[in-house]
Amino acid sequence: MKLQFLGAAETVTGSKYLLETDDKTILIDCGLFQGLKELRMRNWEPFPLTKSVDAVILTHAHLDHSGYLPLLVRQGFKGPIYATEATRELCEILLRDAGRIQEEDASLANKYGYSKHKPAMPLYTEQDAINALKYFQTIDFDKDYSLGKETQFRASRAGHILGSAIITLRTNTTTLVFSGDLGRPNDLIMQPPLQVTFADFLVLESTYGNRLHSQTNPFDQLGNIIRTTVQRGGTVIIPSFAVGRTQTLLYLLYQLKEANAIPAVPIYLDSPMAEDATDIFLKHCSEHKIPLEVCKKVCKIAMYVKTGDDSRKLSSDASPKIIIAGSGMAEGGRVLDHIKNYGPDSKNSIVFTGFQAPMTRGDRLLRGEKEVKIRGAMVPINAHIEMLDSLSSHADYKETLEWLKGFKQPPKTVFLTHGEESASQALKKQIEDQLHWNVVVPRYMQEVTL
Ligand SMILES: [Zn+2]
Repeated sequence: MKLQFLGAAETVTGSKYLLETDDKTILIDCGLFQGLKELRMRNWEPFPLTKSVDAVILTHAHLDHSGYLPLLVRQGFKGPIYATEATRELCEILLRDAGRIQEEDASLANKYGYSKHKPAMPLYTEQDAINALKYFQTIDFDKDYSLGKETQFRASRAGHILGSAIITLRTNTTTLVFSGDLGRPNDLIMQPPLQVTFADFLVLESTYGNRLHSQTNPFDQLGNIIRTTVQRGGTVIIPSFAVGRTQTLLYLLYQLKEANAIPAVPIYLDSPMAEDATDIFLKHCSEHKIPLEVCKKVCKIAMYVKTGDDSRKLSSDASPKIIIAGSGMAEGGRVLDHIKNYGPDSKNSIVFTGFQAPMTRGDRLLRGEKEVKIRGAMVPINAHIEMLDSLSSHADYKETLEWLKGFKQPPKTVFLTHGEESASQALKKQIEDQLHWNVVVPRYMQEVTL
């Protein structure tokens, strides 16, 4: 059996693991590279494959795990894409939106001539995304499915976002576990990840391999930021990952309002897909901790901004308010216009809510850069830049080690992926020192024989 790391090796994005068994070629995750240009360029290369892929299994819907699917299908893939129901529903929103954003960005670049490419082309279109969605086949949690005669797989709850799964693949001789993105034992809203107890080989994420999440209470921190910003007459801009993080934020804002801990300013959810994601959140109540009745109220806490025109009107309104808008690392989407409009004024705040890949606008602002380039123009940033880092939906290294301690015996090898080099190496050392397991940090495109 061969395993090749086609992405999320030495970096956090582009998750793609190619597994060749005796009778099948299976791709676990099919993500986009994001962040650094050098990484994003890989999305434009043809899929590096000599044999055709029989099936794709997704761990979850985030674009760094699913966002390459429209391209895989455009390049001829016609097999099943297995995903849990919530993952399929979220992919429908995220992939179509990704296609739409790329079309919009390309057409803006052509209109204003700020791209080096003439004409600028979208990586893929909304129609490519729609084509890919036809190949999805939904799977239930905790049920075995067959892939050919010798291979079975199952999805177990990963507690990272709705639908997120740890994938266990079994052949007659070998058990492989892919953690996907591993959730936290005490997440604000998600149920904890399933405790896996056995794997011959474990492919484990290491996003927070060298960090611990802040113990700051997000309720107090966000309340504080909102109160002080509104006192200054400012607006709070929250770049947010549409799926998962936005729902957590709505829940926090609901709690803050219930406790009268923030002033009564309007809350806007400026994301064309927010309503759909919220419906999915309501539908899959068993995956999170919020009771249905509370969930319904949480979903009503914000006003949904539907059209681009309404979004632009919001950008020119000077009164204090809270705007949640995508994307979470400020790499695209409607939040860019809000940063352009509200970023220059020091009375406003921009609040990031999760991991920022290196060199994304979010990462640059958090490192103190005072201007960012938006749609070809440099924008000075004087707004207060904040980070709610206790909201992460990834286990930190201590939480990951605790999860590993639940294994009944050591895997033969743990492959650490989905982390920057320093994070993966730090987690490798922790696992070696504390558990004495065999750990490998694979290189991009590296192939191992299992
Ligand atoms: Zn994720």
